[in-house]
Amino acid sequence: MSTPSPPRPWPARKAAPSSVQYACPRCEEVFLRAVDAAAAAEHGLACSHCALELRGPEGPGAAPRPGQAVERCWICGSSALYVQKDFNRELGFMIVVASAMISFLVMLLVGPFEGMVCLGGIALADWLVYRKLADVTVCYLCQSIYRGLPLNEAHRGFYLGLEEKHKKLRQRWLRDLLGEGP
Ligand SMILES: [Zn+2]
Ligand SMILES: [Zn+2]
Repeated sequence: MSTPSPPRPWPARKAAPSSVQYACPRCEEVFLRAVDAAAAAEHGLACSHCALELRGPEGPGAAPRPGQAVERCWICGSSALYVQKDFNRELGFMIVVASAMISFLVMLLVGPFEGMVCLGGIALADWLVYRKLADVTVCYLCQSIYRGLPLNEAHRGFYLGLEEKHKKLRQRWLRDLLGEGP
């Protein structure tokens, strides 16, 4: 049995450490960079694998500051960002499929009512877990993910229309960045 810990002077930090996850467009290496005081002093980022300088159409983006909402993407300088739950889409899809299969089996082996109750229970559990997941900020243009930072009130959820628009912008950004001909 452990002794109760003494009260902390301020609330324990529940949030994940602030970080940005990004991929180098040239070598496709994925990086996780802490957002801290050292990061805030930097401007542009360079890939530590292939030394590509990461910058947007208007030059290098400013580093996010710890404890502050993201205004512009550090990697590409874009201000088009969206908010989503921090979860793995494939894992989420597998959970949905598994839930449906379990409910179907209960329906078949026990009864339709029990099957529906089972489905409802699983849906409720999923929803409770989903609510607990942290929110992350994602860049439409370069798809970098910002974790552990306050959300910017101007950012909304993912919108397919903006993603479609950014597909073209992304191609142009990559072309400029990688120095390939048009
Ligand atoms: Zn690289
Ligand atoms: Zn970006």
